[in-house]
Amino acid sequence: MKIAETVTFAGGGLDRAAEWRATAADRARHADSRVIVLWQGKPLMDDAGLVMLPPDHPILDDAAPDWLMLGRVDGAAVFAADLSGWTPQDDADTGALNSFMDASLQVHPALPGGPAFAELRGVMTRLTPLEAELSATARAMFMWHASHRFCANCGTASDLAMGGWQRNCQTCERHHFPRTDPVVIMLITHGNSVLVGRSPGWPERMYSLLAGFVEPGETLEAAVRREVLEESGVCVGPVRYLASQPWPFPASLMCGMAGEATSREITIDPAEIEDARWVTREEMAEVFAGQHPQINPARKGAIAHFLLENWLADRLD
Ligand SMILES: [Zn+2]
Repeated sequence: MKIAETVTFAGGGLDRAAEWRATAADRARHADSRVIVLWQGKPLMDDAGLVMLPPDHPILDDAAPDWLMLGRVDGAAVFAADLSGWTPQDDADTGALNSFMDASLQVHPALPGGPAFAELRGVMTRLTPLEAELSATARAMFMWHASHRFCANCGTASDLAMGGWQRNCQTCERHHFPRTDPVVIMLITHGNSVLVGRSPGWPERMYSLLAGFVEPGETLEAAVRREVLEESGVCVGPVRYLASQPWPFPASLMCGMAGEATSREITIDPAEIEDARWVTREEMAEVFAGQHPQINPARKGAIAHFLLENWLADRLD
């Protein structure tokens, strides 16, 4: 797919400067380094986009001491600092945290009246590709560090190393690396129709492409055929890769695939999805125009929206 890297969170072109990772701790205090800040996975944003601060900014007094070195931008190292230990004064609505629905903004007293922490899925389509890549990388990495503080081999507390791209165990000397979990998300077509489904708990009328985690020992193609059969009872023949999207909620790599159905009858697995249906190209055009009586489109910024939009426009090649 020629325009694969125009999906949200792709095409940022970040220079990850791996050769600087061993000296990241020293670079963190360089005056020309820049720091992005996240609170509970929410990047600090202002009207212009992602906020980059100098390493001596007072807000960083509230950050965890281990910063991540994300890469190099305009010749300077860019770090990410985690402010999750800070408690906002106006934390009235924390129930929606880590959900698509979180519209709350948190303002830190060191930046009064200025930027605020915002849910990444709510602002992702406003970011430049580079800002999106920096934010997604930082969010995924902080989530990984938070849930991998102990060595998976021997259980000892491990230490962050290499600018956050590694954790080392001093007891058994194992090195651990950040993980990304592959997920297949598939545009399954049969003639002029595409297969969509909805999961329990989704906003009313929202339908999207079927998706599922790739299992150990499985190819992307096999995962597509298995997931579609399990969830909808539809058999899939030829499968091909279209585009991928890093999706740091918390650590997925969405692999957008196209598959041709060889059967049409739908039998859903109610444990996995609530409904699945075939939608014609004409109906999907109505969905995207907001004029379909029963279906709302997949969320903008998500790869499902991207794939469906390009299927409609006949731009999958
Ligand atoms: Zn160990």
